[in-house]
Amino acid sequence: MTAEFVKIEGIPKPASRVALGTWAMGGSMWGGADDDNARKTIDKALDVGINLIDTAPVYGFGHSEEILGKALEGRRDRVVLATKVGLNWQDGQVFRDSRKARIEEELDASLKRLRTDHIDLYQVHWPDPKTPFEETARALEKIVQGGKVKALGLSNFSPEQMDEFRKFAPVATIQPPYNLFEREIEKDILPYAVKNNLIVLAYGPLCRGLLSGKMTADHVFTGDDLRKVDPKFQQPRFNQYLTAVEALKTIAAQHGKSLLALAIRWVLDRGPTIALWGARKPEQITGVQDAFGWTLSEGDMAAIDRILGTTITDPVGPEFMAPPARS
Ligand code: NAP
Repeated sequence: MTAEFVKIEGIPKPASRVALGTWAMGGSMWGGADDDNARKTIDKALDVGINLIDTAPVYGFGHSEEILGKALEGRRDRVVLATKVGLNWQDGQVFRDSRKARIEEELDASLKRLRTDHIDLYQVHWPDPKTPFEETARALEKIVQGGKVKALGLSNFSPEQMDEFRKFAPVATIQPPYNLFEREIEKDILPYAVKNNLIVLAYGPLCRGLLSGKMTADHVFTGDDLRKVDPKFQQPRFNQYLTAVEALKTIAAQHGKSLLALAIRWVLDRGPTIALWGARKPEQITGVQDAFGWTLSEGDMAAIDRILGTTITDPVGPEFMAPPARS
């Protein structure tokens, strides 16, 4: 089964509806990483038909972009390359910073690390409450006009913030958290995307590994792994999610699929979406083809909702990830 593709306004090449997310490859906040495995994961992603790759300067403080730049040398034209802008860091502390000067500095640094002369999709990582959206949007629009960026995206923006930003620059995509367990965007952001013809790059489609179906209650997260502080992975709540995972496996089995394929298919069947599959080992994306070529029925969707309603009595979202504003 071949991958499914979608057109992103402004980008000539259609993008695969499963993209490779490279946050964990950067090494920080995921308990360390292995560059050799990261390189093999990128090779594998291209082999299985993934052509959209998402990264950000902050992932490993440049390291994820560097790995990607090296891996894509000689084959840059095969991919739709997405990175981000609008975060800054000092002494390892990350904060929001979408000032014009910061954007110009970050663009140069990203192009150098990615070893390319253009970025296909350039996304504002988090809204910066201390910089007018007009300043950020106009700076980015100028970069698009100059040809170094093909299209703009917004990540973690509310509809009101997107409305304000879009007064000054056109936007092609949004990137919110979205998976079976984290569905906040269904209230307003997903309808907003549909109404305004925006493609949704859903991040965390596996809920940081919970929906891989391979996690157990005694799983130990090491080093700086963010799941040590992720409230979903703390007991007694963790057990509620693991119980849901076991029940969801029965629905996947009815289709002859893994839970992981079901989790990705669920995202793809909810709207104009792309699932950003976070992987750092090649074997993690071996089963990507299982997500394509079938759909979940309304009955399946209702059965999934019933499972979530009965097993997860104390739900929590991904809000813990939000970085602070500039001080
Ligand atoms: P995710 O895709 O929900 O989960 C990724 C984790 O799932 C992996 O690190 C891996 O954990 C596990 N996994 C993946 N494939 C697996 C397999 N076949 N078997 C078992 N486990 C598997 O979460 P995410 O990485 O947070 O999100 C994906 C991407 O979205 C990121 O890489 C990034 O590009 C983007 N993102 C963007 C934002 C934003 O603010 N815009 C925020 C978060 C993420 P282990 O390697 O530990 O086993």
